[in-house]
Amino acid sequence: MAKTNRKTRGGRIRRAGIVLALMAVSFLAGMWTHGALDRPLFADAGLTYIGDIPVLTNYIPAGSRARPGGLREIKYLVIHETDNFAAGADAAAHDSFIHQNADAASGVVSWHYTVDDHQICHHLPDNEPAYHAGDGMEPNGGNQNGIGIEMCVNEDGDYEQTLRNAEQLCARLLVEYDLKPAALRRHQDFSGKVCPAKLIGSGRWEEFCAAVEQQYDALRAAGAQ
Ligand SMILES: [Zn+2]
Repeated sequence: MAKTNRKTRGGRIRRAGIVLALMAVSFLAGMWTHGALDRPLFADAGLTYIGDIPVLTNYIPAGSRARPGGLREIKYLVIHETDNFAAGADAAAHDSFIHQNADAASGVVSWHYTVDDHQICHHLPDNEPAYHAGDGMEPNGGNQNGIGIEMCVNEDGDYEQTLRNAEQLCARLLVEYDLKPAALRRHQDFSGKVCPAKLIGSGRWEEFCAAVEQQYDALRAAGAQ
């Protein structure tokens, strides 16, 4: 009788061990894959085109002051405008600017994407924090957990087309990172700075969010087919 009990207990322990091992494997598998493409959790989406809009990737060098590094959870898309109305101040010009100032002694700024009326420049991997929201490295903040997106307002650009391109980028990033349209934020939401100034000043923030949601719903519907 004692022998049978020992056997039963041994069997229970083995079964419990197997169950725990299976739970650990499924937990790790869940950690490792994420988002629409089942890519590793900590990986940039690697976008090259969004529709017919080219996405040009030219990362700020690792180790520069504007690229603090470290991986973080993506929780928000933080919308900005460059406030640079000069002719020629397009996405490529801002890509040059961000590289030239990546090791500035003070006032370092960085963000992930700049959008103009014909292309998108990608300056930092999406899974790294940056300096664009004016809230330091506040936990759960815009710098720590947001993807910074600058929209150009150059006088020789088509601002309406820039908005359309930014809407498409936002919708795509929401899908890529398994976020909801409610993850859209203004720079103003984190630091109080009136940014994106033109969009806020013209009372069009809600319109922008609605357009992103429409694009997001279309992408989701297309992905479900
Ligand atoms: Zn801003």
